Amino acid sequence: MREELLMIPGPVPVLPRILDAMSKPMIPHRGDEFKQLYVEVVENLRAIFKTRNDLFPLSGSGTCAMEAAIANLVDNETSVVCIANGKFGERFYEIAERYTEHVTVVNFDWGSPIELEKVKVTLESNPDVVTMVHNETSTGILNPAKEVGKLTKKHDAVFVLDCITSIGGNDVPVDQLGVDIAIVGSQKCLGAPPGLSALSVSDKVLDLMRANKKRPYYMDIIAYKKSLDKKQTPYTPALPLFFALHEALEVIIEEGMAKRTERHRMLSAMVRTAVTSLGLSLFPQLNEVSEYSNTVTAINMPSGFSDEQLKGGMRRKGVIVAGGQENLKGKIFRMATMGNITEREVSMAIRALGEVLMEKDVKGG
Ligand SMILES: *Cc1c(COP(=O)(O)O)cnc(C)c1O
Repeated sequence: MREELLMIPGPVPVLPRILDAMSKPMIPHRGDEFKQLYVEVVENLRAIFKTRNDLFPLSGSGTCAMEAAIANLVDNETSVVCIANGKFGERFYEIAERYTEHVTVVNFDWGSPIELEKVKVTLESNPDVVTMVHNETSTGILNPAKEVGKLTKKHDAVFVLDCITSIGGNDVPVDQLGVDIAIVGSQKCLGAPPGLSALSVSDKVLDLMRANKKRPYYMDIIAYKKSLDKKQTPYTPALPLFFALHEALEVIIEEGMAKRTERHRMLSAMVRTAVTSLGLSLFPQLNEVSEYSNTVTAINMPSGFSDEQLKGGMRRKGVIVAGGQENLKGKIFRMATMGNITEREVSMAIRALGEVLMEKDVKGG
């Protein structure tokens, strides 16, 4: 067994009972046993999403569900506004551009909060679809879902929200926020292995998808809807991953989402306090504490450290942290507090970080 502590924003460490679930013998995916498992997965996810909408687990990582959302909704005529202040916000833009020419991006610097005034002005064009990332994993920011939900509603647009690193670690009342399509991935706050995603879809949006003649084949949400009514998936599901997700959702239900959210909040606050007291600074430039992600913390690279020195130093102490993505590579590093991670593990990571910083000081590196 490796003794490494994964503190990257997915995949996260997976509890033994969840790993064990994957080694069960295969079952027929049209049989009663799968139907029961599938229904329980869907119902537990709906409870965690706080939604009354239909919910579709997909055999594919988070990006699969992001593309499914766009591809089912959008044809050449559809106008899409993508709000972006980081890598994953921009991913929606890149996906949408494959399906329609009418894409507008409201861009903010990576690490800056979303300015609602600017969003408001852009939405005056009355787009059909608005996309945003709730928890921007590349920069450690929680974006204002409620406010943007209100604005999209006012313009009668479909609100697609990537909740891949918020659902399961934060309170995300999908229906209350006015989210038409909410997306989650298995390997982040749900604490399951990578390879599955899920999206909830409102009735209004299912109708829009039905009317779209250019829906994709494999990720056809209307095919998923027909199968869901028979407690099945249209194609062979990734069974071992479903076994694991089923168990991971049991773990969440046992802990309770309120306690789980509080644990995530506490652990990320612990990381922020610790890195600040070690003399480091947080990367996002925010006005409110509530805008900091409670599932991943982005920290400015300490001066004199390269990406490899920081990550390598941590790795030698048994802790795997993430670097920055794209233009943030070498400028920041990220510590995730997602899933079933414990206070003890986070303390260990903080101690390791303190040692890495101190050793460099001593050696004068
Ligand atoms: C991880 C992540 C994704 C992409 O998920 P994959 O599982 O790698 O496809 C999308 N959005 C956000 C916010 C993420 O953190």
